Amino acid sequence: MKSKPKIAFFDFTGCEGCQLTVIDSLQNHLDLLDAVEIVQFREALSEKGEDYKIAFVEGSCTRPSDEERLHRIREQAQIVVALGACAHLGGINAVRNLLPLEQTRRYVYGENAKVYESGIARPISDVIPIEAFIPGCPIDREEFIRGVKTLLQGNRPDIPDYPVCVECKLKENGCLYHCGIACLGPITRAGCGALCPSLGVGCEGCRGLIPDPNIKWLRELMYDLGQSDERISSKMGLFMTNQVLESEVVDGRDG
Ligand code: SF4
Ligand code: SF4
Ligand code: SF4
Repeated sequence: MKSKPKIAFFDFTGCEGCQLTVIDSLQNHLDLLDAVEIVQFREALSEKGEDYKIAFVEGSCTRPSDEERLHRIREQAQIVVALGACAHLGGINAVRNLLPLEQTRRYVYGENAKVYESGIARPISDVIPIEAFIPGCPIDREEFIRGVKTLLQGNRPDIPDYPVCVECKLKENGCLYHCGIACLGPITRAGCGALCPSLGVGCEGCRGLIPDPNIKWLRELMYDLGQSDERISSKMGLFMTNQVLESEVVDGRDG
């Protein structure tokens, strides 16, 4: 009998919400669960197999020991997938990168800072090459299932590279900017079905930037709503600190 593809899940710095979403989605897709062999998944299994073909990594890299662990995963896996905003972008953890690291460490750990190993928060692709990512905070259940099936067929997941506004318009929502509500939809990768704007809440950018985003124009739109520099930076930095900082350096802006 042909052996099943072996997959493994790993967690780094994150809330583990993406792993819980994986468990939740697999419960409703028993066919997929039956088609693979899960050899490591701390949230759901006590076994710890080291032989796997596809590694799903949740969480950002924040410690030197994380780097070593990521390199070990990379050596073993044929395919590495970043699972969720923390692994894909650095995620919420990356807000710490806006302050000098020592200042953040002292704020969080006080006099015990030297006891804890902590560094800046990075997407895993800053440390090892990856083949694919499933964006979002948390990941979308169905996008994850589609992504796994696509990978098992030898292809890469089809993740949209157009903005949330496209899905928002297809839903015939009125634009929140007309109601004085800021929204990151114009610069954020679609695929969530414009979840937040459809509920009257501005997009916070959890799926990351689209290619070639017009951040400067969106900042000006948010200024026109009367938002302060600090407020705009904090909204843009919630999930995409690393990406926005990089784009502004490329644009020659000081943010
Ligand atoms: S992306 Fe969001 S849900 Fe997933 S681990 Fe990070 S904080 Fe948690
Ligand atoms: S509400 Fe947000 S996502 Fe929808 S059209 Fe306006 S800016 Fe785009
Ligand atoms: S609308 Fe924005 S913040 Fe909300 S789920 Fe979609 S990408 Fe994430």
